[in-house]
Amino acid sequence: MSTTSQLSKPVVIVGGGVAGLSAALALGRKGLSVQLFEQADQIGAIGYGVQMGPNVVPMLRSLGIEEDVLGASYLPPEIDLLDAYTGQPLLHLPLTSPKYLERYQGLPYLAIHRVDLHEVLLKACAKLPQVNLNQSTTVVDYVQNKDGVVAISAEGKEFSASALIAADGLRSKLRGKLHPEDVPKESGYVAHRCLIPMAQLPEALKTRPGVSMWTGDGFHVIYYPLRQSSVLNIVLVVKLPTGVQHVSDQAYDDYIERIKSQVALPAKCAMDFMDLKRRWAIADREPIRGWSDQRVTLMGDSAHATLQSFAQGACMAIEDSVVLAELMHRFPGEIEHAFKLFEKQRFLRTARVQLQSRSLWEDFHCNGHAASVRTARFTEQSSEDFFKCLDWLWTPIEPPSMLSALSP
Ligand SMILES: Cc1cc2nc3c(=O)[nH]c(=O)nc-3n(C[C@H](O)[C@H](O)[C@H](O)COP(=O)(O)OP(=O)(O)OC[C@H]3O[C@@H](n4cnc5c(N)ncnc54)[C@H](O)[C@@H]3O)c2cc1C
Repeated sequence: MSTTSQLSKPVVIVGGGVAGLSAALALGRKGLSVQLFEQADQIGAIGYGVQMGPNVVPMLRSLGIEEDVLGASYLPPEIDLLDAYTGQPLLHLPLTSPKYLERYQGLPYLAIHRVDLHEVLLKACAKLPQVNLNQSTTVVDYVQNKDGVVAISAEGKEFSASALIAADGLRSKLRGKLHPEDVPKESGYVAHRCLIPMAQLPEALKTRPGVSMWTGDGFHVIYYPLRQSSVLNIVLVVKLPTGVQHVSDQAYDDYIERIKSQVALPAKCAMDFMDLKRRWAIADREPIRGWSDQRVTLMGDSAHATLQSFAQGACMAIEDSVVLAELMHRFPGEIEHAFKLFEKQRFLRTARVQLQSRSLWEDFHCNGHAASVRTARFTEQSSEDFFKCLDWLWTPIEPPSMLSALSP
């Protein structure tokens, strides 16, 4: 290990989402000086839910925020996947069963309001004087020199850094600099999201305390409680049908009405709450090698954006932050090497999330014979079988073991 630090200047982080804030916290806790730049005029989150598997809990512990995150979380007792038309159960995961607890070291599966997660991260960063968070600053470019990196803002301001971490999300500009040909892969699906106070819900939506996902031909609707069960988080994901260019087309409303007339009552009730004019286009990225260029690296969605089939994008970002900080701490004189090791440590796991998410996405939204085959495959498996399929992803790993291959 080189002992001469290349980290005398701050590390610049571009983006104040889950990835950027987790990285700022992880680096700050290692004593590194951090300058984070967020383009929005507030470092915050869009106010909807996020689920996180048990694999994230040791990472939260390592970041010193386990208690605060768990305190703000709802712990769903189960995950159910159901056929939206017939209500037939396709998958059941009991998340508080003795088998689950034994398998995943007693660590919970959790659901948290994104705003609450951001607040915990912001509060923890605020305790570290070496972490500096700046909003209303868009980083559009960088240049590298022998002393490090200069980040350049949209106004032409220059920030001298020892390294630059691009945590600028799915539509990352900085990934475009490293890989000009690489663009987000649009899925053709859009998501609508809402949060509804429990008191306003019809009975049909009050009976299931866990994560419930109703799946059909080209759509799914998923819901789960948040904030001590005071609100229900609902997400509707729909493939834009042929002939519909935009969700503001009347044809889109008509299409959703047709779906609603075909599905089971809880799925219909959940869809009734949606504001169809507000939507997010869903895209992911191809897994690629080459996350870093000298003292610049991608992380989080900018490195490995995924479809949300496993609900793991934010979890992968948090895992990234812990691994990245550990490597930069271990190799302060060899940042380029640390960034290469970061990709080496993280590539296979994140690529597997990306690619298996695509195939699960097909399972969730198929029709006709493919849907019949999917139903046969899913219903012949027990909860235990599904847990086995998730072990590679959910099994909690203590951060030092994640890096065991690097030990002398
Ligand atoms: C519908 C939906 C449901 C999801 N559900 C889950 C779930 O249940 N569980 C889960 O783990 N994941 C989930 N995800 C995925 C998760 O939201 C993302 O993987 C995660 O938020 C990625 O974090 P990030 O910080 O990498 O990117 P982002 O959250 O996109 O943050 C990037 C930040 O960078 C800023 N930025 C961008 N460009 C610049 C620039 N040039 N200069 C300065 N700032 C810049 C942006 O304003 C933004 O704040 C879901 C995603 C979607 C779409």
